[in-house]
Amino acid sequence: MRVPEGMLRLGLGTKFILTVLTILAGTMAVNNLYSLYSSARFHEKQLVERGHALGRLISLVSPEAILGFDFLLLNEYTRQVSAQPDVVYGVILSPKGAPLSAYIDDSDPLVRARINAAGSSDVTRLLREIDAHPELIQLAFPIVHNNVELGRFVVGLSKHSLRAESRRQLALQLVALALVVLFLCAAIYLVFRANVLFPIKSLISASRHVGRGEHALVEIKSNDELGQLASAFNAMAEEVRLEQAKLHRQANFDTLTGLPNRLMAMDRINQTISRARRTSQRFALFFIDLDNFKSVNDSLGHAVGDELLVATGARVQAILRDADTVARLGGDEFLVLVPDVINELQAEEIAERLVRSISEPQLLSGRKVVARCSIGIVLFPDNGDTAAELMANADNAMYQAKAGGHGSAIFFTEDMNTRLRDRMQMEQDLNQALELGQLALHFQPIFDAVTGCHRGAEVLLRWQHPERGSVSPADFIPLAEATGQIVGIGDWVLEQACRNWSHWRQSGLVGAEFLAINISRVQFRKRFARRLSALMAQYNVPPHALELEITESVLLDDHQNVAEELNSLRAVGVTLSLDDFGTGYSSLSYLKRFRFDVLKIDRSFVSGLPDKPEDVLLVKAILAMAKGLDLRVVAEGVESHDQLLFLSGQGCDYAQGYLLAMPMSVEAYRMYLETLVAGAVRSASLRSRVTG
Ligand code: C2E
Ligand code: MG
Ligand code: MG
Repeated sequence: MRVPEGMLRLGLGTKFILTVLTILAGTMAVNNLYSLYSSARFHEKQLVERGHALGRLISLVSPEAILGFDFLLLNEYTRQVSAQPDVVYGVILSPKGAPLSAYIDDSDPLVRARINAAGSSDVTRLLREIDAHPELIQLAFPIVHNNVELGRFVVGLSKHSLRAESRRQLALQLVALALVVLFLCAAIYLVFRANVLFPIKSLISASRHVGRGEHALVEIKSNDELGQLASAFNAMAEEVRLEQAKLHRQANFDTLTGLPNRLMAMDRINQTISRARRTSQRFALFFIDLDNFKSVNDSLGHAVGDELLVATGARVQAILRDADTVARLGGDEFLVLVPDVINELQAEEIAERLVRSISEPQLLSGRKVVARCSIGIVLFPDNGDTAAELMANADNAMYQAKAGGHGSAIFFTEDMNTRLRDRMQMEQDLNQALELGQLALHFQPIFDAVTGCHRGAEVLLRWQHPERGSVSPADFIPLAEATGQIVGIGDWVLEQACRNWSHWRQSGLVGAEFLAINISRVQFRKRFARRLSALMAQYNVPPHALELEITESVLLDDHQNVAEELNSLRAVGVTLSLDDFGTGYSSLSYLKRFRFDVLKIDRSFVSGLPDKPEDVLLVKAILAMAKGLDLRVVAEGVESHDQLLFLSGQGCDYAQGYLLAMPMSVEAYRMYLETLVAGAVRSASLRSRVTG
């Protein structure tokens, strides 16, 4: 229902008072009018009765005077009668209507008006004139003596003074009524204001405060409905306050560690920037990222991972002052804000303390864990003007610290941004590399270390960048892995490899027994085995023709899924090879847990052969272990005869390296296979290289 607009503008108090005023004034006016009317009726009745008394008196006394023709006495009677209040005339008429005695009070304005209207003072005419006037009461009384009518006495009574009295009463009553109504209205309004308007106004004002997000309660003064409304409002305001506090906590604090979150951190940085600008001071930000946090999560479980995050937050907090801020930005990232840092030396000292405290060994769920971290440091105003800029630069410096080696802290420098821009440009270029045909496969042959026979080749990706020239996969594969582009690229490599192998076979080139394809940890997810089977079926490639090179980092991921995926690949029948063995987080338990067919010794160990005793020891140990586990071994990066001789002498199965063959383009490798088929490959030169 719509409320008329005019009504809306009136306040509750005005509406209430108008209503009360109308009701009071109405009822009291009706009451007063009724009593006025009754009293007027009563007085009129009294007037008539007085007239009757006079009339009866004159009728009694006048026969004697009439019979005695004593007109003087009659005149005296009529004069006496007329002298009575409200009597305007008294007339004694003969039976025929002739006036015997008349006394008319012509001072009465009504009578005077009638006399004027009649134009003469003739009593008979005057009586006729007056007779019909509503303001006059005419009473007639017969004058009888011994049942003989001697005449009539007519008396005229004026209602004038009666009316005047009524008007006076009315005026008085109206004034009294107005005063009473006003007084009552004022009294009711004051009571209404104190008991209704005031509580409502405080409720309105408190609601506005709550609406603005401020906490406000109202005083409960009564037990009535308004009191109940006030207490309901207070309960609601309290609920809103708790809810707001909860929202504030959720929006500004990290639920796991209880530390300020990114939003709050940004807010604190902004505040610190304003203060530092006013006081021309410097401050420092430390962007901390835990190293290999994922592997803690994967190998020890998420509960231990959470425990580590909480412990890290507490450790960092413990070495800082109250004025400093520690925030968790998300995942394994923390931010430390230290106001009033005077110079880089001081910042460096704080960073060292942070690294030390985080990497202190600790017991988490009964397990000894040593966490490491990388820290990027920025100073205000040296490394940025805004919170966002400082944060981005600190993040960038942290990224560089991580790339440079674990457990280190480095200051941001301008050329880091250049590197970052470079990286972003490369990321964009890589997006189009496939479409623009800038990617190509190269093949590096792998040989039997003892016989020197060609056994297969490793598929190596090449990117021919229009400006940068040939970009090494060591540079762009990690980038493609970080951005996820490797999934598409890896799939393309897999398909091209299958296509080429099948093509060579159809052309009768049987020299290459297998192709070893590098598979990234990002590619290596559920359904990879299904995709591989589909490609193998499409290109008619048998399982023994494919060897998948997987680096140890894959094994760090979710063990259950990796084990399932490896089993699926095993079911497909392809050969599984553990690439770059010894460089990552090699754990012998991985070899036991995940079954591989081939193990590739990283070239960093091969390069020290046969002179470096540690490398000699290590390679011998790897070979012995591989024999025990029934694994074939490929040595990568064989560059010299001595290396090859040592490896074949120690029972290494295969060798791959620049000494034997460089990675070559698809055309070059095809020609290479053709020469193999032609039997020319076992040329003296190659054979002598392989066998020494
Ligand atoms: P990797 O799998 O260990 O490949 C062997 C790397 O050693 C290749 O480098 C190869 O050219 C190089 N190499 C071979 N023999 C010698 C030698 O005698 N001396 C020296 N110094 N190096 C030798 P490349 O082609 O630059 O590849 C680097 C890495 O990039 C590869 O290491 C592999 O991890 C990755 N990669 C290459 N292609 C692919 C690919 O298609 N997919 C994935 N996921 N990774 C790839
Ligand atoms: Mg490889
Ligand atoms: Mg390798």
